Amino acid sequence: MKFSFVTLFPNLIEPYFEDSILKKAIEKKLLELKFYNPREYTRNKHNKVDDTLCGGGAGQLMFPQPLFDLLDTIKQQNPNAHIVFPLAAAKPFRQNDAKRLAKKEHIVFVSGRYEGIDERVIEKYANEVFSIGDYILTGGELASTVMSDAIARNIEGVLGNSDSLEEESYNHYSFSKPTLEAPSFTKPVIFQNLSVPSELLKGNHAKIRNFKSKLSKCKTQYFRP
Ligand code: SAM
Repeated sequence: MKFSFVTLFPNLIEPYFEDSILKKAIEKKLLELKFYNPREYTRNKHNKVDDTLCGGGAGQLMFPQPLFDLLDTIKQQNPNAHIVFPLAAAKPFRQNDAKRLAKKEHIVFVSGRYEGIDERVIEKYANEVFSIGDYILTGGELASTVMSDAIARNIEGVLGNSDSLEEESYNHYSFSKPTLEAPSFTKPVIFQNLSVPSELLKGNHAKIRNFKSKLSKCKTQYFRP
């Protein structure tokens, strides 16, 4: 799988992939990264990428030309590239999207800055748009990193133990709605007088499954009624 990041600030994204599981995925050639800076595709003297809003309004917007040229270049080189724009004004990015997108061969994330990107760029190039939550970030770099992380761990071979993917929140369904993972515990069994629930210690796997399923439903009801 290849991730291409279109960003004015590659340094905000690149270090995330220099450690831990995603670093290993790159070493194992399960993942490849590429960075494109719109400033390198400008045709004006001062390499400007932003301009004022038509019709007035606060702030600046990334104007079309550098992004059109850059995305045309990517599409010429990679006709199968799947282009994703992180946007505050979009549908929420969910675990099912992460799993689905993990099957693509190449995803391009286009990070906005300032007040965002001229809508004509999004109209012309977006295969999908996603919000990572109901709040406004200063730019799309964190959102692109969040989505690429969630996608990458669903690529076969990236996680040491692929069973981890099955036992997680949003993968279990109850009444056709995803449920949250039950609370988890490790050793020691008693720590500072706090005990792990005894149901998890008796070795009866059917009972443990049943107990965890009940906790999972309670937790979902509490946090996501
Ligand atoms: N004016 C925009 C609006 O009200 O929807 C917000 C622009 S924001 C300051 C700049 C960039 O950050 C956006 O173009 C987008 O790439 C990214 N961004 C901000 N919040 C986001 C969110 N919740 N999810 C995904 N991307 C976000």
